[in-house]
Amino acid sequence: MRVALVSEHASPLAVLGGVDAGGQNVHVDALARGLADLGHDVRVYTRRDDASLPERVPLGPRVEVVHVPAGPAREVPKDALAPYMDAFGDWMARDWERTGTPAVAHSHFWMSGLATLRAAAALDVPVAHTYHALGSVKRRHQGAKDTSPAGRVAAELSVGERADLVVATCRDEVDELVRLGLDPARIQVVPCGVDVTHFRPLPPARRGRAAGAARGGGALLPRRRQPHRLLVVGRLVERKGVDTVVRALAAVPGTELLVAGGPPADLLAADPEACRLVALAEALGVDDRVTLLGRVEHDDLPAVIGSADVVVATPWYEPFGIVPLEAAACGVPVVGSAVGGLLDSVRPGVTGLLVPPRDPDALAAALRPLLADPVRRRALGQAARRRAVRTYAWSQVAQRTAALYQTLALPADALLAGPAAVPALTEVAV
Ligand code: UDP
Repeated sequence: MRVALVSEHASPLAVLGGVDAGGQNVHVDALARGLADLGHDVRVYTRRDDASLPERVPLGPRVEVVHVPAGPAREVPKDALAPYMDAFGDWMARDWERTGTPAVAHSHFWMSGLATLRAAAALDVPVAHTYHALGSVKRRHQGAKDTSPAGRVAAELSVGERADLVVATCRDEVDELVRLGLDPARIQVVPCGVDVTHFRPLPPARRGRAAGAARGGGALLPRRRQPHRLLVVGRLVERKGVDTVVRALAAVPGTELLVAGGPPADLLAADPEACRLVALAEALGVDDRVTLLGRVEHDDLPAVIGSADVVVATPWYEPFGIVPLEAAACGVPVVGSAVGGLLDSVRPGVTGLLVPPRDPDALAAALRPLLADPVRRRALGQAARRRAVRTYAWSQVAQRTAALYQTLALPADALLAGPAAVPALTEVAV
């Protein structure tokens, strides 16, 4: 099949860890490569945000990134991109006419949905849509701090109603979409994945070295200064709840916290969230046990994760959250918030633990016995790795997604053959 993946702000070529570059970039990149590995021809359409970018950049065999001229050729915050989506869709439709119409277009994030439906209507291309994040959830948690355009929630419902299929990434998202008013029959669940070859347990010898000084993010990973090490990985934004971990640390003695994410280390002093976390750590008297690493290169992350006893992920809400899968694939247990995708990706008591969000006391109470029990941590980590390989390898995610595309790309009379032609893919949790 010729497949168009549309991801207006999140390019597979972007550097991860910045304010607008995270899981969606990873997802689109890995899905594109996974589909290409299955023999499909994949084009990823993303906005041209730098005048020096060529129109087409090969990403690998059978997969290329296409830079769409829509809006200024410079970085624009994603919440200001909606006005350019008509131009994005029109350019894409012309490209499809010129270079071949895809059998399926799969849009990622609501604005890509708008652009894709516009292009697809002209050429009768079936559309699958993945939200990655929902405006209704963001508004509930962030209130007045939410900078999304006013029409986002209504546009999201409309995209879901007009797309041929909605591909949700977890069961909690299905509940949210139904709450929004979407018919559950339009939704299938395929989780996000993890690169289980890149993210894997460190061999014991390297684990020892990683715990000491090692390369990480182009900087030296600090030598362990406490008996136990916690790690948070993610964009430095308030809703990731890193402050909950800093607060919990006060009640978890003998433990240090590393935080990977945000701008590069030399620019952390100018980052408002980094400054807020440092001030909080100082106020709580735990600043000597907290280290902000800044952005860590994706390639260096397995060593950083492997140096930790526990990866902590305590967001207020989380559409999916790939970091808990990366920790699991590295064989490191996760203590996370019982929200969003973590409800599927962490099996409490089997691969990690879940605690209520924004609750430092509950987090500290979960961490203390776990840190004191290396045998339990190892058992959780091993189960996490097994589950990551069995359920979340990108190759499986690509296969499930391609099976859904096939149901959309079939001629209408073939679909009339009945539901047996449509594989049941709603089951995600193992
Ligand atoms: N990431 C990274 N370096 C960093 C911080 C984050 O490579 O310094 C990557 C991380 O490994 C993960 C992605 O960014 O693959 C974040 O995805 P997730 O779904 O956890 O969160 P999002 O950013 O989408 O909210």
